[in-house]
Amino acid sequence: MYCNYCGKAIQDDANLCPYCGRRIGAVAGRRKLMRSRVDRKIAGVCAGFAEYFDLDVTVVRVVWLIVALCPPGGGILAYIIGWIVMPEEPEYVPVAPPATNVQPYQGS
Ligand SMILES: [Zn+2]
Repeated sequence: MYCNYCGKAIQDDANLCPYCGRRIGAVAGRRKLMRSRVDRKIAGVCAGFAEYFDLDVTVVRVVWLIVALCPPGGGILAYIIGWIVMPEEPEYVPVAPPATNVQPYQGS
């Protein structure tokens, strides 16, 4: 499949374009709860949830930390469970740039 923004060929199950970094998962329709590789602090669980629920990863981390700290234990346990249960998203393999030079869509 191709990125809607920069037009480069990307992985079919990619949520983010590795070239321009834009989210394309919502366009593709199919979303999986996966630990993020690109945006992780510990294991990418918070980023994975943010990706899945289309939330700001910082909000997820803050909420998760609050839950983790009071009462202590629950959030940390949930994080560890997420770490174990959630599959890691596939690694983005860099694709050789196509011969035709596609101009990136800059938006307005
Ligand atoms: Zn792109």
